[in-house]
Amino acid sequence: MNRLIRYLTDDGSAVCSVLDGTEMCAELERIHKTSAVCTAALGRLAMGASLMGYGLKSPEDCLTLRISGGGPAGNLVACSDGLGNTRAYMDNPNVELPLNARGKLDVGGCCGREGTLLVIKDLGLKEPYTGQTALVSGEIAEDITQYFAQSEQTPTACGLGVLVAPDLTVKHAGGFLIHLMPFAAEETAAVLEKNLAGIPPVTQMLEDGLTPDDIARKLLAGLDAQPLDEANPELRCVCSRERTADILRALDERSLREMAEEMPEIEVICHFCGKKYVFAPEEIAKMADEKRTT
Ligand code: ZN
Repeated sequence: MNRLIRYLTDDGSAVCSVLDGTEMCAELERIHKTSAVCTAALGRLAMGASLMGYGLKSPEDCLTLRISGGGPAGNLVACSDGLGNTRAYMDNPNVELPLNARGKLDVGGCCGREGTLLVIKDLGLKEPYTGQTALVSGEIAEDITQYFAQSEQTPTACGLGVLVAPDLTVKHAGGFLIHLMPFAAEETAAVLEKNLAGIPPVTQMLEDGLTPDDIARKLLAGLDAQPLDEANPELRCVCSRERTADILRALDERSLREMAEEMPEIEVICHFCGKKYVFAPEEIAKMADEKRTT
């Protein structure tokens, strides 16, 4: 089970979220049949979305992250609700790249480094909030950190990691997100910085048997902090036949007519989960008729 926990310092100046997203990333690999480097890239983005989505105010809120870095992966998209439930897809899940100079999966090379991270937050208001920042490295955690610093003026530390086994399954995956409030004391920032400099990668800590709580306590060592809340977010799609029909209905009348006349059946596949929805030409023709009358 995926597990997400949050800790808050007693003075309220720092909040630390930690996610064990091993199952979430394993399922992404199963759905999208991703190569190793793509599993790492998409898994990191999905966990980043889950951590950020959980930080929104209510369960109905939703958050979208999109990386467009000009790399061979194309665009990567992850969406999360306010409980951290996430779905994700990428344009090209089959990228193969040699390991990078540090002997790691080359996520930056896969996503590309020349582009943007787009963040959309739909908080149920009239207009969704959007923020966009230039990518730092395409490694995703650094890009999220940069987004918070630039777009939300919130000093943030983010770590995300996916450990892919030689048989391409996901061995461990996890991440953390720490936000520092504007009123945080300088000493708090200094303690956190020291902790961050000294900790191993998240996947290493999970491999060593540490739980998300252990990791949070390590990140906040030296600060007084208590558990705030916790959740078991899932990889979960929100698609349905009705929603898919709505997407088709948004097409213009001419496109719908052509589809109805030329295709024996109309198949729509969900990008996020691969589910297939089939529509008969008569249904599409009816949608076109409805366009005419409205
Ligand atoms: Zn779906």
